[in-house]
Amino acid sequence: MATNNELLLDVQNLETQFRTEEGILRAVDRVSFHLNKGETLGIVGESGCGKSITAKSLMNLVPQPRGKIVGGKIMYYGRNEPMDISSYHHNSSEMRAIRGNEISMIFQEPMTSLNPVFTVGNQLMEAVMLHQKVGKREARQRAVEMLAKVGISTPEKRIERFPHEFSGGMRQRAMIAMALSCNPHLLIADEPTTALDVTVEAQILNLMQDLQDDMGMAIIMITHDLGVIAGIATRVVVMYAGWVVEMATTEEIFYSPKHPYTKALLQSIPKIGSRQRLLSIPGTVPDLNNLERGWCYFAPRCSQAMDVCRQQEPPLFDDDGGHVVKCWLWDKEYADQRNDDEQQAAEPSTAADELTK
Ligand code: SF4
Repeated sequence: MATNNELLLDVQNLETQFRTEEGILRAVDRVSFHLNKGETLGIVGESGCGKSITAKSLMNLVPQPRGKIVGGKIMYYGRNEPMDISSYHHNSSEMRAIRGNEISMIFQEPMTSLNPVFTVGNQLMEAVMLHQKVGKREARQRAVEMLAKVGISTPEKRIERFPHEFSGGMRQRAMIAMALSCNPHLLIADEPTTALDVTVEAQILNLMQDLQDDMGMAIIMITHDLGVIAGIATRVVVMYAGWVVEMATTEEIFYSPKHPYTKALLQSIPKIGSRQRLLSIPGTVPDLNNLERGWCYFAPRCSQAMDVCRQQEPPLFDDDGGHVVKCWLWDKEYADQRNDDEQQAAEPSTAADELTK
């Protein structure tokens, strides 16, 4: 969780859209956030909220030809000169130099990235040789070291094995080894533990933290599960229907959430030893195809929705301390409404106590 307050990434008003049969789908809609060097930022939301497309946009890997970054900037400060990643062609030499080298990504299912017909060692060596311009012998040595670093025992033997000979947890470790073999400034982890059982999940999260302490990279952790974020992120971005609806420190998100959606997410986390019924959020994320702007997309699911919510898009309210919320309840005109409902929303802190221990 180390962070040195030096900016690594500054995403400003990012807009990523897809052309579909039905029209235009705004997957990422005017999204802004920043990330400091060595920091861990969590991006949370249900599936379809735009978190994975945000990650792909940061790598300039938006699925082509239908997807496109159409607005905003992704300023990257990992080099001597700042650069706007969104202004480069996805296949340009500049992007290929950054991707996998300075910014790496791991996914939920390592088999989508590991090739089943090559040994794990071959694939690790190829990644090292591609990005570090070293010979075969040195690449093999580095591959063995990386497998040892991610906690795989007898790496000299395991390096000869194929991905299907690894367990799910070991494959994710191998994937992390591959992503970190080039000492990236930023690791983007997209639901890296979703396919794993809770024990292995905890091991992988601990491993990522240890490696971060050791190597100093920043991490963006993308997940639908606030519990994954609790122990490792310094700040959290909550996304809904392509918007950032709340952004704050992890502590503020867990102990004083402001957005009704964040509160509902917290109330849907199971609590150890509690027999209380879990709250599920009614309804689903709206279909983003041709979605008209000019209202709050959470209104159909929000127990606190007011007339204004259906008539005008909420602006982002900032408390000047970096806690940002996109909700009309934080306009001073509707403060009374908010204060009444605040009393009912005090409950999530119980879950927070358990998760942030
Ligand atoms: Fe609910 Fe209105 Fe806030 Fe949207 S703006 S989250 S509908 S209270």
